[in-house]
Formats: sequence, structure tokens, C-alpha cells
Amino acid sequence: MSDIRYGGQVYQASLGENVLDVLIRNKVNVPYSCRKGVCMSCISRLDEGRPSPQSQDNLKTTLIEQNYFLACKATVTGNMTIAAPDDATLYSRARVKSIEKLSGEVTRLVLQPATPLYYHAGQYVTLRRPDGLARSYSLASVPFLDTALEFHIRHMPDGLMSNWIAKDLKEGDTLDFQGPTGNCFYVSDDPHKPILLIGTGTGLAPLFGILRDALFSGHKGDIRLYHGSRLDVGLYLKKRLFEIADQYRNFWYQPCVSSGVAPSECKSGRAADLALEDLEDLSGWSVYLCGDPGMVKDTQRKAYLAGAATRDIHSDAFEYRNMRENKSDPYPNDRRKR
Ligand SMILES: Cc1cc2nc3c(=O)[nH]c(=O)nc-3n(C[C@H](O)[C@H](O)[C@H](O)COP(=O)(O)OP(=O)(O)OC[C@H]3O[C@@H](n4cnc5c(N)ncnc54)[C@H](O)[C@@H]3O)c2cc1C
Repeated sequence: MSDIRYGGQVYQASLGENVLDVLIRNKVNVPYSCRKGVCMSCISRLDEGRPSPQSQDNLKTTLIEQNYFLACKATVTGNMTIAAPDDATLYSRARVKSIEKLSGEVTRLVLQPATPLYYHAGQYVTLRRPDGLARSYSLASVPFLDTALEFHIRHMPDGLMSNWIAKDLKEGDTLDFQGPTGNCFYVSDDPHKPILLIGTGTGLAPLFGILRDALFSGHKGDIRLYHGSRLDVGLYLKKRLFEIADQYRNFWYQPCVSSGVAPSECKSGRAADLALEDLEDLSGWSVYLCGDPGMVKDTQRKAYLAGAATRDIHSDAFEYRNMRENKSDPYPNDRRKR
């Protein structure tokens, strides 16, 4: 057995056990969400002990040098002393500039960062509520076009963060965020390369940034965007995207609905299936897949089989909170806010 020290307490753990599991099992109020090393919510610092290599996979060198690691990807390697992250190292502050509904279930949140953020359109940041709850959201803004950071957030009725953003967050409030992170962004190495963008739900957010980045950077190759939603009401940027399609001859927009009757301008079916039916040969294409993790995983494989090179398939899977066997709510006080 090994000793895991956190916040002045000592917990017993077996060698090889997952560090986040140990903390959750002992009811430590540690932030976490996806448990797959994507959302970065559980980033912590190791003051004593050795971080397992995979627990530092996606971290910047500066953070690795300070012994930061992701608890969800770490295994117990011996006695460990873990500290909560240092706010000044990891987090920046932003003010809510505006917050409005884009549709019944999607909120457009615009944040003005206290200091300029250097990012690529399509990357994501992790927003942190004052009580520590953290979730990742993709940037829909483009650094050289927009002065503020834009997010499209789908309201999950029982979702802790999205419910709070939709109902409690107000203009002028402040939020902390970590990032940017992620490799799903426009690569301008070949302006003639055709680009296929497939997104479901608010998976449109990063694609909207990537699309505008490519168009305003003078991309010459075809750009095809398939946006999928269960119902027409979920196609929350339809009007704006048809306007952009009217402006740019190399951009096509295809809204898709997977349930119910499709309006005349939409196709009926799943966005990824429809895209791959229309474009059977993807050799030489750049492919961007964002949104539902199942769609992203499945379409990565299909795009590869259709000829897209692995290096040209970019993705941003919206991994959501994975509660596994632990059904307890790590933020029980939030219930009053629902
Ligand atoms: C890299 C990345 C980028 C992301 N970008 C965006 C974005 O731009 N816009 C956006 O709206 N979301 C995005 N997400 C998802 C976001 O981080 C949250 O997971 C989402 O807002 C739900 O959080 P919540 O706290 O409201 O719900 P939680 O309290 O975390 O979840 C409540 C319950 O709903 C379930 N649940 C949550 N989300 C889903 C889902 N999509 N499908 C099925 N069940 C679900 C959970 O498992 C849980 O049981 C992104 C996630 C990642 C990892």
C-alpha cells in the first residue's frame, strides 16, 4: 500500500490504482469531468512522488517542469503528495461581455479576457465556476476577427455547468478559465486543399471558428460543412451559415436533421452518414469532426477508410462527465441553483 497525501489528509492506495479514483473514493472534492485526459479539469501538482508518463501527455512543457499531471490518467507509483493547482499558473480571468440564447437549448456566451489570449480558432478552454466546477468549451471565435471569446453552450437540463451558465450567469460576472488546449484547428499549409467539416449539436462551435479562419485567411479549396441535429430547431446558425455560403463560392453548408420531417433546405439523416455518402473519396481532404464522441470516433475510422490521411483528420470529441461507478455529485451545493 502507498500513502496519498492531499489537503493535509492521508489516504491508502494500492500500487497501480488510478489516482483520481483514490481521491473520489475518499470523497475528496477534486474537480473532474471527462476522465479521459481531455478536459483537464483534474489537473493537479505532485509535490512528492513520480507522475506516470501518460498523466502528462497533453501538458505544456512549462507545466510538466512544475510537476503538473492529470489525476484521471495517473496511476499510484508509490507515496504521493498532491496539491491543488496554483491558480496564478493555470487560470486567467474573463468578464462576461454578453450572454444570449441562440436557440431554445443553445446559449452564446461571450467572454472578454483580462489579458489577450493567444489561440487558434477551434481550440478549447476549460471554464471554472467560482466553486471549482470545471468544464471544457470550444472557441467559436477567431483571434484576428473577434476581440472577445465566443462559446456556444448546449443547455443540459440536469447539467451542472450548462444549467448554471444558462440560468445564473449574468453580464459583468467574472469566470476563470484554463487553456487554450487542443489540436483541432485550421492548418493553412495548402490553401487549395478541400476541407470537410462535420459537427453535431454545439460541435458547430469549433467548426464555425475554423470555417471563418479558413475563409478569411483566403482558403481557395472547397469547404463543405455538414451540421447535424436531431431536430431542425437545433440548427442554431442556419441563417448565418446560408448567408456566408452566399458570400463565398467555395463554401457549401448542409444542415441535416436525424429525426422528424426535414425542412426543404435540410437533408434527412445523420450528418456524418450524409457527408460520407456525398463524398465517397476523401483522399487529399482535410477532415474536421466535432461534437458527439460516438460520432467522432466512428467517423474518424470511416474518413480514413474513405481515403483521408490520418494526419488530415482533426477532431474535437465533446467528452462529457464520466461518473462511472461513482454516482455521487461532487458539487452537492449546486442543487439549490437548478
Ligand atoms: C474538448 C471539449 C470541448 C467541448 N466543447 C463544448 C462546446 O463547445 N459546447 C458544449 O455545449 N459542450 C462542449 N463540451 C461538453 C462540456 O464540457 C460539458 O460536458 C457539457 O456542457 C455538460 O456539462 P454539464 O456540467 O452541464 O453536465 P454534467 O453535470 O457534466 O452532466 C449531467 C449528466 O448529463 C450527461 N451528459 C452530459 N453531456 C452529455 C451529452 N452531450 N450527451 C449525453 N449525456 C450527457 C452526463 O454524463 C451526466 O450524467 C466540450 C467537452 C470537451 C471535452
